[in-house]
Amino acid sequence: MLMNFLMPPGPETHSTREVRTLMKRRFALTAGFLLLAAVTLTACLSSDRRVEASPGLRGEPQTRNRRMKNVLVVTVTKGFRHDSIPVAEETIKLLGERTGAWITDFARTDADIQQKMTPQALQRYDAVIFANTTGVLPLPDPPALLEYVRSGKGFVAMHAGSDTFHTWPGSSAPVSEYIQMLGGEFLTHGAQCAVDGHILDPKHPATIAIVRSGERTDPATAANVDLKKYTVATGKIWKVFDEIYILKNVDRVNLRALVVLDRYPPDGSPNAGKPGEHLISWCRTYGRGRVFYTALGHRQEVWRDPLFQEHIAGGIQFALGLMKGETRPNPEAAPAK
Ligand SMILES: [Zn+2]
Repeated sequence: MLMNFLMPPGPETHSTREVRTLMKRRFALTAGFLLLAAVTLTACLSSDRRVEASPGLRGEPQTRNRRMKNVLVVTVTKGFRHDSIPVAEETIKLLGERTGAWITDFARTDADIQQKMTPQALQRYDAVIFANTTGVLPLPDPPALLEYVRSGKGFVAMHAGSDTFHTWPGSSAPVSEYIQMLGGEFLTHGAQCAVDGHILDPKHPATIAIVRSGERTDPATAANVDLKKYTVATGKIWKVFDEIYILKNVDRVNLRALVVLDRYPPDGSPNAGKPGEHLISWCRTYGRGRVFYTALGHRQEVWRDPLFQEHIAGGIQFALGLMKGETRPNPEAAPAK
């Protein structure tokens, strides 16, 4: 017995039995604390390791000598409202501070949109970001948003940004002008699931840090990562647990796909696991402007994930014109077999 060495020698009495019980309880408590401490330490070490994997977001702002750009983050919803929106707002603001690249303003209400998205007011911003917006937003001058992007500004959308403007005010185009600008449209989704995102452009600002992390990650380590807490990359494969969108009206010939699936997500739908290309992230030009989209960003945990943060920090800096990324469409590109 483990406890025997702690017990006084001699015949067992009522009180030694009590002491034994007490010691057992203490031992159980101590063991519990030790286990908790070990788990906490492991979690800390593992989260430190993951922060180490994100050198681009650490330390002093990198762009001290450059005018910080201004972005407008829009989080108004006219359909489903994601509970990750507050985390999304906080994350984008924080990434702007950490990179020193942009200052974040918000449009959270219809009144904000009316005030901050007029043709004149939009000129204050270098990029507009639709973070989990849904539905037809009350833009004061819808064509002005598209003209704003075409004129050389940036446009970024995350996740439900493609579940926005399925119809365009004043237009009956089968694919709305907004979706034509963005490059793809939300169709449906199944259950949340883990997928292997294949990185097709490993040099783009939105993927380069993920690929670098993938070069360092031991597959055995990756196999043990709790994807519900963290994403992980091995080689050029980015493993993510999120709600995975199936898109329609994907303008594949005019997009540069950055991250794709080579099969339907294992989301419980009838097509689950069947072969097929599904885009997770892309970039493109629109007139003289730059567009970046990622279909990820349903779960709060994804927004808090270091690799996802690298993904969007790079994507936003690409859209702002601060980081160069290839935009040549790559419809022929496919994951390596
Ligand atoms: Zn969602």
